[in-house]
Amino acid sequence: MPRPALRSRTLRRVKKRLPGGAFIIHYLKRRPSPARCAVCGKKLHGVPRAKPSIIRRISKSKKAPSRPYGGNLCSSCAREKVKEKVR
Ligand SMILES: [Zn+2]
Repeated sequence: MPRPALRSRTLRRVKKRLPGGAFIIHYLKRRPSPARCAVCGKKLHGVPRAKPSIIRRISKSKKAPSRPYGGNLCSSCAREKVKEKVR
């Protein structure tokens, strides 16, 4: 049985296969919740779901769609917002 601190579900469990075929459990921090659209609340595509330390390592173009309101609004809400601005 793992030590008391690892028995809680605060940490997520990831099974890792060892070279000999046996499995061991790695205890990792939980990933943050996915980015959501500021208007409708839909999950945003193209926005990585990772810890800030990992986000810092990836390039800017991989962090959010490179369109107006990319990473803040979903595509349909962004389209409406742009139409609103033009009117
Ligand atoms: Zn939306």
